[in-house]
Amino acid sequence: NLNAEIVAVGTELLLGQIANTNAQWISETLASIGIDVHHHVVVGDNLRRVEEQFRISGNRADIIIVTGGLGPTDDDLTREAFQQITGMEIIEHEPAMKKIEAFFQKQNTVMTPNNRKQARVFAGSDVIENQTGMASGMSLSYADKMWFFLPGVPREMKQMMADSVVPHLQHISGQETVIKSTMLRFAGIGESTLEHELQDIIRHQMNPTIAPLAQNKGVGIRLTAKAATNEEAAELIGRKKKEIIDRVGRHYYGADDQTLEEKVLALLKQANKSIGAAESLTGGMFTDKLIAVPGASDVCPGGIVCYDTKVKENVLQIPQNIIHQYGTISKECAAAMAENTSSLLDTDIGISFTGVAGPDSVEGYEAGTVYIALHHKSGNLARKFSFSGDRQAIRKRAVRKGFELLFD
Ligand code: ATP
Ligand code: MG
Repeated sequence: NLNAEIVAVGTELLLGQIANTNAQWISETLASIGIDVHHHVVVGDNLRRVEEQFRISGNRADIIIVTGGLGPTDDDLTREAFQQITGMEIIEHEPAMKKIEAFFQKQNTVMTPNNRKQARVFAGSDVIENQTGMASGMSLSYADKMWFFLPGVPREMKQMMADSVVPHLQHISGQETVIKSTMLRFAGIGESTLEHELQDIIRHQMNPTIAPLAQNKGVGIRLTAKAATNEEAAELIGRKKKEIIDRVGRHYYGADDQTLEEKVLALLKQANKSIGAAESLTGGMFTDKLIAVPGASDVCPGGIVCYDTKVKENVLQIPQNIIHQYGTISKECAAAMAENTSSLLDTDIGISFTGVAGPDSVEGYEAGTVYIALHHKSGNLARKFSFSGDRQAIRKRAVRKGFELLFD
């Protein structure tokens, strides 16, 4: 198996001003075509240290992908460093130079001489065209190792990886297979229950592989298939997806980028139901998420943010006796909030959120104690939850749970 190393050049990376997202993206891409990455390295814009790094990388990896340091400024010295250790000749690449000149002409600005540098390439290398910027990329072979030089700008780097580096590597590694993956998303079921329900399917996984994961967005299952063609990979995934949905479809709400809010909105629309929320600790976050989905107007006329008790009394018209007898953090108050919001907003469903976002306790309740109630003519529900995390996490979890209750 060929192994690769990714060398990111740039002092900004070492200073922590930017994160090395290039290495992450390249690694993910290489993994998907079966190439192992053994090292990520970051080196600053320093000639001696870049040279030293190139020596180390060239000694241990089969494939070296370098990003950054190809630009016009003096601190861009990737070419110089590689030349120092290989003695390779650097020449000006005509087509690239023409493109740079044309760019400046079009912008009506004078080209400073240092811009010529971006058209400089190693003699004998394969020049990788930059579709969106100016510095050309290069691929070359030196001492039996494959070297790729790409710009630091992520957009340019990705375009060159996709157009040139990936096809090249797939060709030489004889791995011209396609890999397709999809994420199935679930709500209202825990990771361990899901794994249990699918135990035999997971145990016999081969192609596609099945990976259950728990994320902020709930529980998911990633299916990854390898095949000779896109169609074949899609079919493998489709078949496995069906098998899984046949088993746990009740909790399945969508694939990939589909969100639970979108699903809930679609379900409400289908049932021709409207909804309004009374939100205390969530401060409008639930309504915001719902209204962020296009087409929300058919389903959600608005919501009521009732953070302070006065607003619960004066706007939501929660009876004083409920507040005095049970407190605002109670099933009873949550139920009244859900009921009143649906009558005030004239919606089929009312949902409410009241509780303690933290960090301090309120009315003797610990941070994370949240009541969520649903008011609907087919039945009411009011439940107590204990969410963990900081203030924002508790608020987000409460909103997520609200959508889960509606989905169930
Ligand atoms: P250019 O020709 O645009 O100057 P370059 O090859 O000289 O490109 P750099 O100057 O090193 O590249 O980086 C240009 C910009 O690209 C940086 O300011 C940074 O925003 C981004 N960048 C560079 N390296 C990385 C990296 N490893 N991960 C993410 N972004 C990066
Ligand atoms: Mg630069």
